[in-house]
Amino acid sequence: MRGRGGRGHPVFTPEQRQKYLLFVADGIPLDEAANLAGVSRRTVNKHAAADPTFREARDEAKTAGRKARWDAKPHDEYRYIHGGCRCPECRAAASAARAARRATADEAGVDGAEPRPGTGPTDPTVISLPARDGRSDLPLRPLAAVS
Ligand SMILES: [Zn+2]
Repeated sequence: MRGRGGRGHPVFTPEQRQKYLLFVADGIPLDEAANLAGVSRRTVNKHAAADPTFREARDEAKTAGRKARWDAKPHDEYRYIHGGCRCPECRAAASAARAARRATADEAGVDGAEPRPGTGPTDPTVISLPARDGRSDLPLRPLAAVS
């Protein structure tokens, strides 16, 4: 141990900083990255507040880390919506999900919109009411009562 580490100025060695930044850039959560580097997140924050160069390096690492975490996520609807990804995979997932939502909304009669043409209450495929008689074990969903 080196002769510091007393109160007020926790040790955060250049090696630890280096490690910490690498972990963060790898997408490891900040708390965990600090732990892995052998410091507390508090210590890191103190140093970031006191040292603009380190703060900048940490910001860069965070940006890289976000990207790394993001890159690890699958391409799907979430990524389409929240990441603005427009790759074929995300687009397909997003439109499939949209179609599924639309179908569900039609079925439940929610959506807050007018029934679409051809899907009025008379359409037997729109609302399938469970038989009320003898099926008290199947609670009616409130929405099913809307005609
Ligand atoms: Zn994508």
